[in-house]
Amino acid sequence: MMDYIPISMIKEYTYCPRQAYLKIMIMKEPPTESMKYAKQVSNTENVIKSIREQGIEGEVSLEVPVKSAKLGIVGRVDAVVVNKNRAVIIEAKLNIGNKKKLYTRYSHVLAQATAYAMALEETMKVTVDKIIIINQEKETTITIRPTPNLRKWTERTIQDMRKHIQNQEPPPKTTNKAKCKACYFKDICPP
Ligand code: SF4
Repeated sequence: MMDYIPISMIKEYTYCPRQAYLKIMIMKEPPTESMKYAKQVSNTENVIKSIREQGIEGEVSLEVPVKSAKLGIVGRVDAVVVNKNRAVIIEAKLNIGNKKKLYTRYSHVLAQATAYAMALEETMKVTVDKIIIINQEKETTITIRPTPNLRKWTERTIQDMRKHIQNQEPPPKTTNKAKCKACYFKDICPP
C-alpha cells in the first residue's frame, strides 16, 4: 500500500508503534513530509548561525529532499552541509533536552535523524559523519555520529514498521501510559 515510508513516520513509530500505524491506516492519504513543514516552521537564521558557530565548512543546502530505494524511505532534511564526499546533517527541533534524553525519551528524534542520514547518503552519494540537532528553545546543539549500531537499530525499526503495514497487523502499544493520556487515538486504540 505504501511504497515509500515518510521519514517523519519513522519518528512516530519509534515514539509509539501503534500510533504511527493508526495514523497511516486511518488517514486517507499517508502523512507527508510537507505536513511536518506546515507544522514546524524551522528557523532558517538559527540553522545557518549554528552551522557557522560549529565551524563546519562546505556548501549549505536547506530543506533537502532525500530518498532511499534500499530502505524504502523518503523525506526532507532541514539542512545539509556537503564538503567533497562528506556531509553533515542539521535538524532543528523545538526542545529535545540534552544528549542523554536524545537516547532515551527523545529516541524518536534519533531514529528520524539517522534515517535522514542513511537516505542522504544514498541520494547524494556522500558519507554522513555527523548529525547536529539544534534545540531551538534553548539555543543549544547536540552532535551525534550515525554509528553502525544506530543505523542497524533504525533499519530494524523501518523493517518492523513495513511488516506491520503490509500485513495490516497492529504493532504493540507503547508501554508509557503518559503518552496514551495525550494521544488523539486513545478512544479507538484497541487493547
Ligand atoms: S493510546 Fe497509547 S498505545 Fe494507543 S496509539 Fe495512543 S499512545 Fe499509542
